Amino acid sequence: MRIAGALAILVLLSACAAAPARTQSAPGWSIAIHGGAGIIERPQLTAETEAAYRDGLARALAAGAAVLRDGGASLDAVEAAARILEDDPLFNAGRGAVFTADGRNELDASIMDGRAGAAGAVAGVTSVRNPISLARAVMEKSPHVMLMGAGAEAFATEQGLARVPPAYFFTERRWLQLEETLRARGAPIPARPEGATPSPSAALAPLDDHAFGTIGVVARDQNGHYAAGTSTGGTTGKRWGRVGDSPVIGAGTFARNGVCAVSATGTGEYFIRLSVARTICARIEYLSESGKTAADAVIRDALTAIGGDGCVIVIDAEGAPAWSFNTPGMYRGFETSETAPVISIFADEP
Ligand code: ASP
Repeated sequence: MRIAGALAILVLLSACAAAPARTQSAPGWSIAIHGGAGIIERPQLTAETEAAYRDGLARALAAGAAVLRDGGASLDAVEAAARILEDDPLFNAGRGAVFTADGRNELDASIMDGRAGAAGAVAGVTSVRNPISLARAVMEKSPHVMLMGAGAEAFATEQGLARVPPAYFFTERRWLQLEETLRARGAPIPARPEGATPSPSAALAPLDDHAFGTIGVVARDQNGHYAAGTSTGGTTGKRWGRVGDSPVIGAGTFARNGVCAVSATGTGEYFIRLSVARTICARIEYLSESGKTAADAVIRDALTAIGGDGCVIVIDAEGAPAWSFNTPGMYRGFETSETAPVISIFADEP
């Protein structure tokens, strides 16, 4: 009887040793994406517009997940997914960027490598097709963390990154948003940019979604490396070279191996004041909170208390994707090695 018991324990122990070390809450790889948050409710989205958003998110998520599934690096997954969202005119990043008060597009982006904490960021670039790739080049090919304006453009030339004329960023929808913002402000409306043509998104119903359409991606790869990236056109009608949280490491983006990867979207000024991304990671690291608990504490409690709006996506210490938003909706998606892709927009979705 005693021998049988010992044998049973031995069998059990060897089964445990053979089983993968990870559990449901610690996936082999995981990725989450966002395409902004805001007053996004069902009556505001036509079926066609909603389908276009879901499709854009799904394509980006699939591209990032494919990199991770194949054993690729989290940084590559973040860049791949972010570039797809930047190229999609629906999102306020790259191609679909909002306009400044004088009718220009000034783009910001950042990326962080959770391994040793390297980071790169750009602010106020106007001719770079994929600012997320420029941010990565700053991180990997320069001794700096953040480049801005003309200097960032010169660095993009040096690095041979794809450039586009201003008209590339023209979308009718964003132009209408600018006109509306300036009219409400009683400010003059600038001339349409040279070469402006109706964008593909003009075919969709004009959308007053009051959304922060910044995009972001967070990932953990099969080697346990974390990365986060964020890209934006900023806020409609911004002036004076305004820069928000998206290119600010610790505010809009943060990653640290074994702890977290975070990307944010929302009223950037408030996210900067609270160091939102870094604070969420600090809570996970020092208080052993889950990504969800830490994100809710910062977004639902602290951010709401000072009047800020928006959302974050997080991969936490266990590798579990999480998010939090204090707005009615949020364009989001996530997938892990253990779970099928999920794309959601409204508050009552998973
Ligand atoms: N956070 C961005 C900014 O303040 C805007 C956004 O999320 O849409 O520039």
